[in-house]
Amino acid sequence: MNIRKGDEVLVISGDDRGKKGKVHRCIPEEKRVVVEGVRIGKRHMKPRGNVRQAGIIEREAPISVSKVMLVCGKCHEPTRVGFRVLDDGSKVRLCKQCDEVID
Ligand SMILES: [Zn+2]
Repeated sequence: MNIRKGDEVLVISGDDRGKKGKVHRCIPEEKRVVVEGVRIGKRHMKPRGNVRQAGIIEREAPISVSKVMLVCGKCHEPTRVGFRVLDDGSKVRLCKQCDEVID
């Protein structure tokens, strides 16, 4: 995946379009990410049995990685991600806006 935990991303489609946040979690097998403050579902929890937490619980729901764009830490623009293989064989991500290495 082009997006990793800790990246800042911009939501480009859906109800949360235009929101920015940090990636809390990546789910590569579903190609989804959980972004701070994005797609918060409110769930009303009833006290039941020995579940002590009741009331309204806010949860961030995973969204598809195709709905977010990485925000470059160098030029602060939303960008597509490119890759470059370094001399030692390691692969790094590149910002396609400013051509800087992101990692
Ligand atoms: Zn950049």
